Amino acid sequence: MIVDLRSDTVTVPTKKMLEFMMDSKVGDDVYGEDPAVNLLQTKVASMFGKDVGMFFPSGTMANQTAIKLHTNPGDQVICDKYSHIYNYEGGGASFNSGVSFNLIDGKRGMFNSDQALNSINPKDFYHSPLSKLIAIENTTNKGGGACWDIGELKKIQKVANSNNLGMHLDGARIWNAIVHKNDNPLEIGKIFDTISVCLSKGLGCPIGSVLIGNSKIMSNALRIRKILGGGMRQAGYLASAGIYALENNLSRLSEDHQRAREIGEVLAKSTYVKSVEKIETNIVIFELNKEINDSSFIDKLKRLNIKLISMGSNKLRLVTHLNYTNIHHDYFLSSIKSL
Ligand SMILES: *Cc1c(COP(=O)(O)O)cnc(C)c1O
Repeated sequence: MIVDLRSDTVTVPTKKMLEFMMDSKVGDDVYGEDPAVNLLQTKVASMFGKDVGMFFPSGTMANQTAIKLHTNPGDQVICDKYSHIYNYEGGGASFNSGVSFNLIDGKRGMFNSDQALNSINPKDFYHSPLSKLIAIENTTNKGGGACWDIGELKKIQKVANSNNLGMHLDGARIWNAIVHKNDNPLEIGKIFDTISVCLSKGLGCPIGSVLIGNSKIMSNALRIRKILGGGMRQAGYLASAGIYALENNLSRLSEDHQRAREIGEVLAKSTYVKSVEKIETNIVIFELNKEINDSSFIDKLKRLNIKLISMGSNKLRLVTHLNYTNIHHDYFLSSIKSL
């Protein structure tokens, strides 16, 4: 048995999901003729009250497309210093859109409306880059699965509106926030101009993301996805996994959250752990005591067939998911207790 807690992306499709995928009706999506892709796109868009959805092979490509939709070369994007678009997309925002970032020093990947306001460059001060977009991540990845407060998001939206800035949500794990906070997706949809969501994380699909927005901003998205090489043909087999996951794997995310909390409780009591960050959803970040080296700790767990990753500064991350079952959970908890 291998317990893989490196990420919620390590899930493999279940037999039922595969059967549903195999039954998919497909067509050439570059001609807009794939019924399953069209259904998934409509389904996700309407969940959040948006007109248009577009299927993407990855969350990175969906985010990169969104940044391009909102900006021109030379513009600036405001986001938290922990953001995925800044840290983990290979520098794509500068490569694809020619933009720079104004990073906010937030808490657990989140900031407030005052910080957003203070990060906007004055429009007529032409020496600094033109601020164009506020990008928010919910839940935060590097921030340990933290969930935003809808009230704060609304305040940030006001700041964006009164300064002519776009609002993008990197919602790779928005499902976890919706399940944990009982947020209404329609309310989230009203706050953002564009939202990217991942199907390949908590929802257990092998691949896929969807970018949604209203038709005006999305009118150029097809061209940008084409330029980035994201036009796919009979993608309905993959989109069907998303349709299946939205119907079957959404509410069960609370089980992942529960297991993450239980792991956190054991870690907090362990002598080798300095601290455990607050756990809200399926991500657990903890710091080892100074005298313990993180890579030798990871190696030790690897010998027990347990995998997790380092976040730097002696912090480790683990993520619970669909394929992390009770059997894995029991084995993992007893393993970390006996270290
Ligand atoms: C995983 C992730 C993405 C997209 O990742 P892909 O691997 O490209 O699908 C985007 N944002 C966040 C916050 C993520 O965790």
